[in-house]
Amino acid sequence: RERDRLRASGGPGRTADGHPVKLLLNIGSAADLESGFSAEGVGLFRTEFLFLDRREAPGLDEQIAAYEAVFRALPGGRVIVRTLDAGTDKPLPFLNLPEEINPALGIRGLRVDRLRPGVLDTQLDAIVAAARSTGVRPWVMAPMVTTAAEAAAFARKAGARGITDVGAMVEVPAAALQASRLLAELGFLSIGTNDLSQYTCAADRQHGDLADLLDPWQPALLRLVAECAAAGERAGKPVGVCGEAAADPLLAVVLVGLGVTSLSMSAPSIPAVRESLARHTLEECRAAAGAALEAGDPAEARRSARSGSD
Ligand code: PEP
Ligand code: MG
Repeated sequence: RERDRLRASGGPGRTADGHPVKLLLNIGSAADLESGFSAEGVGLFRTEFLFLDRREAPGLDEQIAAYEAVFRALPGGRVIVRTLDAGTDKPLPFLNLPEEINPALGIRGLRVDRLRPGVLDTQLDAIVAAARSTGVRPWVMAPMVTTAAEAAAFARKAGARGITDVGAMVEVPAAALQASRLLAELGFLSIGTNDLSQYTCAADRQHGDLADLLDPWQPALLRLVAECAAAGERAGKPVGVCGEAAADPLLAVVLVGLGVTSLSMSAPSIPAVRESLARHTLEECRAAAGAALEAGDPAEARRSARSGSD
């Protein structure tokens, strides 16, 4: 059934000359898989929904059931589960974290594990149990990883439970600049361009007056993506993009030209991205990427990518 859905809607992602690019889905729960979709798997399973609006952490069994529901809906496909991305910007009462003046720079994502280690431990146990009962081998990644040491610690926790495909989101410029070091500890990276923009341009991602700084075409952001993709190519390991940037059909061409191996987005964006990639050869993608990287600002990056890829 899953394969029929995929075939009915255009097949896997590839450039005009056949270079494969996995087109994956961003989801928040199994409900997002109910309507028809045309992806090759899930590139970002945000697990926050289970934890929001709760006085107590969801227990092991409840988490197992939620992860099983997603794994069952995608028996053969790739599923990348992101461990809880909470903190004082997405406050969870049961974490009882100290109030922070600057929450985006505080205890969020993997950093919660410093103060409340049981939360990640239980979540990893639940993912492993759901994997076992469904026969799915999920990839598992942590949000807000900053250093290779954090990547190594996360890989140890996940590896100790038998999770073989362990990765990190790249959302912090330090992580992008150290991508090779991270990949020495991990099997894959997934670039979260929403937060990577916020932290690269020091602009709150919710701030309407700073939209120009949060533009995913900012050449500085593209340089960090290039750094990650090059590290992935050297290591022979996948580097995807799962932020909003992946859903822009022209930017998708640039990302592929930079060396990104998968693009993950919400379901409605996939057909246009698939079509855009199918119209460009890998060489054209690389030309567009080279032109965008040399641009001085987002508008010039867009313009030069468009003419570079023609
Ligand atoms: C991102 O930061 O780009 C991302 C995909 O994660 P979220 O939007 O959930 O922070
Ligand atoms: Mg993020």
